[in-house]
Amino acid sequence: MIEPFLYDLPTKIYFGFGKLNELPALLKDCGVQRAVLVCDRFFAEKGEALRQSAPQIAAVFSDVEPNPQLSGVKETARLVKETAADTVIALGGGSSIDTAKYAAAVACSDLSSEEHFNGVPLTAAKKIIAIPTTAGTGSEVTSVSVISRGNDKKTTHNPVFQPTACIVDPALTMTVPARTTLITGLDAFTHAIEAFWSVRHSALTDALATEALRVIIANLEASFTEATKESRTAMAYGSLLAGLAFSNAKTAGCHACSYPLSMYHHLPHGEACAFTLDSFIRLNADDRLESLAKTLGFADCDALADEIYRLKVKGGLRVRFADCDGELDLNRLATESAEHMLMRNNPVQLSVDELKAMFAALK
Ligand code: NAD
Repeated sequence: MIEPFLYDLPTKIYFGFGKLNELPALLKDCGVQRAVLVCDRFFAEKGEALRQSAPQIAAVFSDVEPNPQLSGVKETARLVKETAADTVIALGGGSSIDTAKYAAAVACSDLSSEEHFNGVPLTAAKKIIAIPTTAGTGSEVTSVSVISRGNDKKTTHNPVFQPTACIVDPALTMTVPARTTLITGLDAFTHAIEAFWSVRHSALTDALATEALRVIIANLEASFTEATKESRTAMAYGSLLAGLAFSNAKTAGCHACSYPLSMYHHLPHGEACAFTLDSFIRLNADDRLESLAKTLGFADCDALADEIYRLKVKGGLRVRFADCDGELDLNRLATESAEHMLMRNNPVQLSVDELKAMFAALK
């Protein structure tokens, strides 16, 4: 029987290969009058070209860094205030989208970005339009923003960060290098499977997660080995579905472990999630997950975990601590992972010793 659920999503979704060509009309459709566009250096030229073609774009901030910094938020919010913009547009991966979200809210406050980073809640935001250029984070449909001040990386959940609209144009992902395509694709896979096994899952998030996993499993390898239009379009769709699944069901163990793995061993977000993904598939295996593995065309959870490991090795991702930066401290990793709030969403409650054993097997 279908259990009762609430599914909350106030974001308009425009999807299509080449959709960005309609930007001025889409901005008009969303009631945008004046906007600041945020991107990283890779998209600086494209951002300028969009400013020329869309009269609503008043200014461009093109200095977002990976692991986006509070300084970028501060500068974007300053531009929003200076130009009296009503909207912040993000063109880029999760780093640019998360910068835009935080800046859209700081621009509505009289307090500084530092005061909010230190804990004062943000209570309103300008309109946010997300244009993802990687197929991975799903940030275009979530109310989450991950911002760092130095090494202090903070994830903030706030309804004001929910984008007004997103434009998912798979053409933008055609230039993503192979390695980043695999890392971001595994991030999307992790969102989908964690939404499926999260204790907060529902019938609707299960449907979204299952379809996301089906699409991603069928296209991930081709998307990083051949970069065809078909595989990259499918991955953009799979990542969107995964975002819709975890926006409501939330993530769990892999994401809880990803924070200390990124902090102490400097793994990019998607690679950090993928580092423990096959371990968690084995640890979380129950009847429900075994049945999902079969639906996806695998004999069982072990075979699905083996496939994830194979893809990581094929794409040259790190699978052992011996290949990572940083000194291995199993106690610190296990304790911080166990204490992370997302670990509470994991279907199996793992003790610090069990997590330590999981990490020890990856030495
Ligand atoms: P990213 O935005 O940091 O980009 C990674 C690299 O890929 C950059 O060098 C960028 O220039 C390049 N790149 C992006 N698009 C490109 C393209 N089309 N062509 C060529 N190069 C391109 O990477 P990401 O994985 O998209 O985002 C990671 C960030 O998102 C992390 O900070 C992570 O914590 C965060 N995140 C947020 C959410 C959320 O819901 N808010 C979810 C997952 C991850």
